[in-house]
Amino acid sequence: MSFQDEIAALGREAEAALRGAGSLAELLALKARFLGRKGGLAGLLKQLPTLPPPERGPAGRLANEVKERLERLAAEQETAFQGAERADRLLRERTDVTLPGRRPPLGRLHPVTQVAREIQGVFLRLGFDVVEGPDVELDAYNFEALNIPRDHPARDMQDTLYVTDEVLLRTHTSPVQIRTMEKHPPPVKIICPGRVYRADAVDPTHSPMFHQIEGLMVDRGVTMAHLKGVLTLFAHEVFGLETGVRFKPSFFPFVEPGAEVGIRCVICGGQGCRVCKQTGWLEVLGAGMVHPQVFRNVGYDPEEVTGFAFGMGVERIAMLKYGIDDIRLFFENDVRFLEQF
Ligand SMILES: [Zn+2]
Repeated sequence: MSFQDEIAALGREAEAALRGAGSLAELLALKARFLGRKGGLAGLLKQLPTLPPPERGPAGRLANEVKERLERLAAEQETAFQGAERADRLLRERTDVTLPGRRPPLGRLHPVTQVAREIQGVFLRLGFDVVEGPDVELDAYNFEALNIPRDHPARDMQDTLYVTDEVLLRTHTSPVQIRTMEKHPPPVKIICPGRVYRADAVDPTHSPMFHQIEGLMVDRGVTMAHLKGVLTLFAHEVFGLETGVRFKPSFFPFVEPGAEVGIRCVICGGQGCRVCKQTGWLEVLGAGMVHPQVFRNVGYDPEEVTGFAFGMGVERIAMLKYGIDDIRLFFENDVRFLEQF
């Protein structure tokens, strides 16, 4: 076989191989094998100087022709592979604009906030104003002005967190009532929502911090009938119109008489169950007619005006309303719990 035939044969072999390449990687490997610096064609060209001089020119021209043809072919194939790969990638990475969007997680009001607002709403519609006061309170406002002097046994009813002898974390929002009456002459018609604190160990029904809403209505001629009417309406608004309501005598030092207000058990409907301790009733709030001594303490004349006051724990109302049996769930802030409200 002449040298020129060898070049032509290599050219045919290379051309067939390049056309048959199945992938870009395979093509690049074939290109190196035939056209690379250590490839087949380069190997042949190295023998060029050993040919008789008259043959060198034609052999060199043929080798260059074959080389150019193969390089053009390799470049065409490479472009084709790259184009196919890009089309493939574009298809894979295509954005499907018809897919539904991903919703960001939406926050909502905490159940205690929701219930507090619902309770406040009832009294706002009755014309009560909302008043707030400090969480850190003077003993004088939290206890003494409310007819609970230092040696009074009622102090044992509320385990108190003291800051100093005279300063404490308020155990109820009642001091807001005192502060309001000190500043404003009667009539007064307010509710006082806020956080309160007790030195209680945490358990399913106790928390050292919880929320209260208290109310106070003072005017000429306010009677127990007003108290009963307002609180019955409250119970019906929050627990439903069919809810039975009960008023039972009770004692709080700042009211006379005092009452505990209960509703028919929302769990068993009055049949008796674990939640109502088989009584069929649930206590929801404390209330009473404001004690004359409390009026005297703020400069009101108990011969001129009378009034009623009431107070409730927001967490307790929320627990009864939603059938929640552990107060700690409100404060753990587990989203799985919170998103149910
Ligand atoms: Zn029950």
